[in-house]
Amino acid sequence: MKMRRVVNLSLDELPKRWYNILADIGPDFPPPKDPPTGFSRLANLPKILLAECLKQEMSNERWIDIPEELQQLYLQASRPRPLFRAYNLEKRLDTPARLYYKGEFFSPTGSHKVNTALAQCYYAKKEGYKRVTTETGAGQWGTALAYGAALTGLKCTIYWVRAVYNWKEDRKNFMQLLGGEAFASPSNRTKFGRSLYQKNKNNPGSLGIAITEGVEDAQNDPNAIYCLGSVLNHVLMHQTIIGLETQKQFEMFDDYPDIMISCLGGGSNFGGFVLPFVGEVLTKGKKIKFLAAQSKAAPNLAGEYKYDFADYGELTPLLKMYTLGHKTLMKPIKGDGLRYHGCSPIISYLRHKKLIDRVAYPIDEKYVFQKARMFIETEGYLPAPESAYSICAAIDQALECKKTGQKKTIAFNISGHGFMDIPGYRSVLKLK
Ligand SMILES: *Cc1c(COP(=O)(O)O)cnc(C)c1O
Repeated sequence: MKMRRVVNLSLDELPKRWYNILADIGPDFPPPKDPPTGFSRLANLPKILLAECLKQEMSNERWIDIPEELQQLYLQASRPRPLFRAYNLEKRLDTPARLYYKGEFFSPTGSHKVNTALAQCYYAKKEGYKRVTTETGAGQWGTALAYGAALTGLKCTIYWVRAVYNWKEDRKNFMQLLGGEAFASPSNRTKFGRSLYQKNKNNPGSLGIAITEGVEDAQNDPNAIYCLGSVLNHVLMHQTIIGLETQKQFEMFDDYPDIMISCLGGGSNFGGFVLPFVGEVLTKGKKIKFLAAQSKAAPNLAGEYKYDFADYGELTPLLKMYTLGHKTLMKPIKGDGLRYHGCSPIISYLRHKKLIDRVAYPIDEKYVFQKARMFIETEGYLPAPESAYSICAAIDQALECKKTGQKKTIAFNISGHGFMDIPGYRSVLKLK
């Protein structure tokens, strides 16, 4: 057997269409709905989502073409991205399992979020907008959208959870270098933000609050449109480019996953990685265990399966999802991208159908970061703190295989790099 360590796809093997799992999960998938009182959020959707994205959100077409120009942007953002066999890590763990990881850490801004940021900016430009607005928590989505805006010639305004904005100087400057403008949220730039900011100038903010600000800003400017980086159906669909590449790469490795793992906040990198494979489970009788790695700070998949708002200020429709409640406060963690109250409706529905397993790790993150350190020492790539959860769960599964002697194939996604997150590793691992 050849010791192949990596499969790189050629440029013309870039997927030409996204996979829309709504075609395969059947008519019982619960649609968004209006709350019993107040204005119609559904009627308001065309004002807060791009027309093309709204169309995709509701589509039942199995395959949706990736426009030619957008394919070029994907190539520029270093797609296709490699799938690695983790020989060194396997050896270190002394496991009979075969481990593979997908390298989304080659993203120019540091995360998989560029995959949907480029798509949304491409459509925003086509639909005549001049500016995109959004929220960000850890900062990865804000940076990705600023990047997308830079490449397509748009302005970008980012409402950034104050507690994170205050200490992530480097990432803030990166956003600015890309031409984006970032404001601590709650800010005094929106009506909703002001209502909180004027009561408490040190309000630490939350993703839900920042979403409300981003939506309000765009609604008040006909040239601006709001963009969301996770949770929604069309965002997960844009991300399926990850899993579609991975399918081809597994063919070239002549292997197939028994277990697929990724970290889960709102569900976009997890969904992007696994949904094409979930499609094969649903339609081709394949058997795969899908495992989402979360933090105990925000174990939304352990929450209740019910209709809830996606934002704190209740501007979005109700989505049927596993949720901790849209006003829940969550402890800060270094893997801040995993801190969101709800899980995407698609992943929630699949969990409801018992197709998705979950694990949640302790809030102090020592256990998770120590496992990530094993990965860095053996494979040499520095993962984002969120991706460390994915690595940690994969290592735990590989150690389980060691106990039972099972030669399982384990695939995990590394959603981003950690070059801007050294302070987080430093404080948790006590680096000097
Ligand atoms: C945002 C982010 C996540 C979590 O978001 P999902 O939508 O659940 O993927 C995970 N990893 C990285 C690197 C991120 O930036």
